Amino acid sequence: MDSAPLFRQMTVVGVGLIGGSLALAARQAGAVRSTVGVGRSKAGCAVARSRKLVDRVAEDLASGVRGADLVVLAVPVREIVRLLPDVARLADPACLVADVGSVKGPILAAGDALFPDGRFVGSHPIAGNEQSGPAAARADLFRGANWILTPGGRTRRAAMERVEALWRAVGARVLRMEAGWHDEVFATVSHLPHLAAYALMDAVLATERGGERIGFSAGGLRDFTRVAGSDPVMWRDIFLMNREPVLKVLAGYQEALERLAAAIRDGDGAAVEARLLRARAAREELVHRS
Ligand code: NAP
Repeated sequence: MDSAPLFRQMTVVGVGLIGGSLALAARQAGAVRSTVGVGRSKAGCAVARSRKLVDRVAEDLASGVRGADLVVLAVPVREIVRLLPDVARLADPACLVADVGSVKGPILAAGDALFPDGRFVGSHPIAGNEQSGPAAARADLFRGANWILTPGGRTRRAAMERVEALWRAVGARVLRMEAGWHDEVFATVSHLPHLAAYALMDAVLATERGGERIGFSAGGLRDFTRVAGSDPVMWRDIFLMNREPVLKVLAGYQEALERLAAAIRDGDGAAVEARLLRARAAREELVHRS
């Protein structure tokens, strides 16, 4: 980047897959002058240091946030809401505060209330995988990825544009979405598949001699349940925080399973086939689009 950095000091709270990747990418792009990471576990901080994910690792929030003109919260979503009041109290009055959490409504409500001057910017990068922690961070994680901004009722336009410029600098394409709609959409296309994958492994394990059966599995079980390798704490928080939309799409999924079960029970081959054909066409469309 030839022009001046967008931020003097970006402090990332939670130097894991997303926070660590953001720090690496922002520094590589020359978009921030310095990066500070706030860690929690000693082991995580040690990995962040040894991999040089940030210029400095702070072990408490106060020293990490000091001097920052941007604080990015990259911890599990319920932890974001828990830490926001402390960030509001400790950060410089002009410091912008953003988050990268996978659920937006409740975080935005907290951000709007704690930063009535419009310095809070809610966002969600559509990047990542089932890996987690500082060891998984990589500088190219956001290249070509969508990054959703969910402006709050109070978010100042200038604050949003500066944060948006940073997300673009790390290679992302920025889209805007209303927070409630975001939470409904991602309950459907992300939270439900994770829930289904965890539940499927659970169901297989619960069969008689389940462990032995798993030993005979081929690609199908492994492909379907890949995302059940994701961090349980992160997903626990997402399911609980996005409770209503998740329960709504889960009920729809249960109905879809019941429709299939009924057709199988009735020996109605035409009904089973029609449902499979429709689902396959929708999946082919999805693969084609991505
Ligand atoms: P992660 O790899 O597990 O990283 C989270 C990091 O936060 C861990 O290194 C953890 O460190 C640290 N941490 C937890 N509580 C903390 C605290 N109170 N203070 C300081 N550090 C703390 O998770 P992630 O995948 O980067 O996810 C982070 C956020 O991004 C979540 O809100 C998630 O919803 C969102 N997100 C994730 C993805 C994805 O695919 N992974 C995609 C988009 C958005 P220790 O455990 O070592 O203490």
